[in-house]
Order: sequence, then structure tokens, then C-alpha cells
Amino acid sequence: MSETRKLYVRSFGCQMNVYDAQRMTDTLAKEGYVETDSPDDADLVILNTCHIREKAAEKVYSELGRLKKAQEEAGRQQMVAVAGCVAQAEGAEILKRARGVDLVVGPQSYHKLPELVADAQRRGGNRRAGIVETEFPVEDKFDFLPPPTRAAINKRGPAAFVTVQEGCDKFCTFCVVPYTRGAEVSRPLPKILDEVIRLAEAGVREVTLIGQNVNAYHGLDAAGRSANLPELIRRIADVPGIARVRYTTSHPRDMDDELIGLHRDLPALMPYLHLPVQSGSNRILAAMNRKHDRELFFEIVDKVRAVRPDIAFSSDFIVGFPGETDADFADTMDLVQRVGFASAFSFKYSSRPGTPAAGMDGQVPEEEKSARIHALQALLDSQRLAFDTACQGRVLDILIEKPGRFPGQLIGRSPYLQSIVVDGPVEAIGTLARVEVHGVSTRNLSGDIRGGEFFVERPARESRFIGQSEKLEA
Ligand code: SAM
Ligand code: SF4
Repeated sequence: MSETRKLYVRSFGCQMNVYDAQRMTDTLAKEGYVETDSPDDADLVILNTCHIREKAAEKVYSELGRLKKAQEEAGRQQMVAVAGCVAQAEGAEILKRARGVDLVVGPQSYHKLPELVADAQRRGGNRRAGIVETEFPVEDKFDFLPPPTRAAINKRGPAAFVTVQEGCDKFCTFCVVPYTRGAEVSRPLPKILDEVIRLAEAGVREVTLIGQNVNAYHGLDAAGRSANLPELIRRIADVPGIARVRYTTSHPRDMDDELIGLHRDLPALMPYLHLPVQSGSNRILAAMNRKHDRELFFEIVDKVRAVRPDIAFSSDFIVGFPGETDADFADTMDLVQRVGFASAFSFKYSSRPGTPAAGMDGQVPEEEKSARIHALQALLDSQRLAFDTACQGRVLDILIEKPGRFPGQLIGRSPYLQSIVVDGPVEAIGTLARVEVHGVSTRNLSGDIRGGEFFVERPARESRFIGQSEKLEA
């Protein structure tokens, strides 16, 4: 291994970027790069960018400006790379618009990072010769990205993301993903299983399977047959050490009865479903090319609640899509009232270059968008509070993920993905604890661990965590 150098990766946007940042770090670890928490002492800074909304994309340029200024003030030489969806969408434009960028690399080329970084290093300070790698290569990057070390897995904690599917063929008219991430591709099931086994052996207890359209998963199994998401989830739930499985993001069109039934039949599948609906108006859903209407959404909600009455629903909403009238927005509010969400993400429509909606008539004025998002978020916040408040007095199993803000505090996740603060020893991180919920605030819940009892379900062979049923002093 070559000399040690420091790497700082800053991720913007979705969970897929969080996962990609880890894989980039793992790849560069082989070249002697160790992670640092500050850009100031890094030899290589990677900005892992998001292009989904204009604001997210613009953040990159302000961050590049800030980096350049800090470099000049400190008289420091750093290599700067722009990765992620802005890199894919804007490519060489980035070199023109921002000073001090050595490398632009799209999401499908992360396995090439070691050679790209070495090449950029050879070019030295000649920034005008910045490298741009945004092709969609024929090879599968996952075949070349090295797995994380045990130490890296431990550092990242007992809940991990695993990308199982990338890209999207749905072409919603507002969205850049089909252009930045390309066509929908599912990873083969055995490779995902290998990755999960490795994670579980290092102490991971919960995996969230991620993909832009995760419930359209159709990877090949060991016999070369196409496997769907329910099959993948069942196989992962069988991996020793894995106590909990989640999946995100799902599209309503791909929410079939088999997947819904799994929420009844598989205890390891957590009762939380993130199902973006975007709008409650059928007219707007059609203009968005969402391929579903509000009736299908209600039907799915009813079916899931029938098999898993306590399920927590989460969703994404866009307000102010071109042509959205007060009546369309009222339909969105009505949908929210009827469903009742435990959590949600809502956004003002942001026009994205190259997408069909950018050229549509009836762009909604900014003040109108602001008024609508304000009203929607107030309703969604009240629903979240109602869901959390209904958990008061309940006993929930939480996965303890990390230390809290104050000594003696721990932070865990409930089955419904709520953050819960409890008191307990740091050794309990990575275990499940039975917690009685007593407090609710805007940010999290708080509770007491019942009888000071921690447990690990089906511990991994070489777990760094405590053994099954072994108790810790609280
Ligand atoms: N695949 C997911 C789905 O089926 O909806 C969503 C992926 S996207 C990364 C996350 C969310 O960003 C979307 O659900 C949508 O609400 C929001 N989004 C995407 N494009 C947007 C745009 N142009 N303006 C505002 N929000 C947008
Ligand atoms: Fe974008 Fe629509 Fe695909 Fe989701 S389903 S990634 S919103 S195009």
C-alpha cells in the first residue's frame, strides 16, 4: 500500500449517495486514503452531488467556491473531485463554471476512481486539464468496487444501506434520475447476499435495500432466473445476524400483492413503507407521467393496512407542478387527510433542464408554491406528531445505533424509523432493546429500556456485539 493520504467525502441528497460515498471511500482506502471529518486537512475532497432540485445542484458551486477560498487562504494544495448526479448531468461544464476542480466523475464510474485520481495527480496543478469521466461503462462497477473492511463496517454502525437496483425507466416528467442514473439495472441476488453476509458478520443488524425504484427489483438468482424484491427480502432476512430489513424507494405501480403480503408474513420486515405519491390530483399525476392515480394509491394503503395495521406510511410530495390549480392542491391535501402519514418529504416543484415538465405551460408562481408547501407541511407535521404521540406508553424494540448527545445517552431506531433516545451503556450499540416510550418531541422520542434488558436476535458468527440473551448492566 502507498503512503497515507486523507480523504474527505461530502454527500448531498439521497441515501444512494450515502451508500456511494462509502463505496468510494472503500475503493480509495486501497490506495492509502483514510477518511477525515474535515475538508481542511484532506488531500482529496470529493463532493458527492445531487441534481434533483436546482437548490441542491447550486449548493455544489457554493461549496466549490468555499473550498477554493479556504485553500488559497491556507496556501494549501488539495485535489478536488465532483462526483454524483451533478457530475453526470453537467460534466465538463463544471470545469468551466468552477475553478479548482481536478476531476468530474459520474456515478457509474466510481470503480475507476483510483486510476482517475492517479491520473489527475500526474497532471498536477494544471487545473485546466481537469478530467471528466461521465460515460456509462459496459462493465458493472459493482464487480470492481472492493468490499468494505470490517473496521469500516464497524465505524458505520449496525444499520447499513445496500444498493440493489439503480436507475429508472419511469420517466416522470419532472425528474432527472433517468438521465443522471441511467436505465434501471438490478444487481444479481447472490452478490447482494454476499455483501449482506459480510455486513452481518461484522455486526450489522439492519439493512435497508435501496434503489430509485426498489420494488421493481428483478436481479438474477444463482440459477440465472429473475428474482423479485420479496424473494430478495426473504433471503436477506435469513442471513444470520440480520434482524431487520427495510426497502426504499418504492413506486406505487410496482407495489404488488406478494410484497404487501410480506409485511404480514415476515417479522423481520419493518412496518414502515416509503411510497412517494407526489400529488393527490389525477390530472397532475397524469401530467407528471406517474403511471398511477390516487385510487391506486388508496387501494395500496388499504391493502397494506389490512395485513399490517400498525404500518407507518411515508411519502414524497411536490407542490406547484406546472398547471397545478387550487383544486389540484386541495386534492393533495385531501389525500393526505385520508391516508394519515407518519412522516413525509415535501418539495416545491423545481424546473430541471432537459426534463419535459421544464417546458410545460402554467409554471406556478413562487409565492403560490410557498403558500402551498407551508399548508402541506403544517398538515404533515401534525400527522407526524399524532403518530408519534400514539406511540407514547407503547413498548417498542429499538436497534441502538449510536451514542447520544450527552454521556450515558444512546440513540436507536424504532420499527417505524423514529429516532428514540434512551439511557444505557455504549456496549449496547448494535443490540436491540425493548423500550417503553414516554416522551415525544419534534425531533425524537424518548424512552426507558425495560428492566435494563438488551438482546441480539440471531447473532452473527463473529459478532462484535454481545451474544444472544446475554444481558448487560444498564
Ligand atoms: N423514485 C422515487 C419515486 O418514485 O418517487 C423518487 C426519487 S427522487 C430522488 C426523490 C424525490 O424528489 C421525489 O419523490 C420527488 O418528490 C422529488 N423530486 C424529484 N424531482 C423533483 C423536482 N424537479 N422538483 C421538486 N421535487 C422533485
Ligand atoms: Fe424519478 Fe419518477 Fe423514476 Fe422516481 S419513478 S426516480 S420520481 S423518474
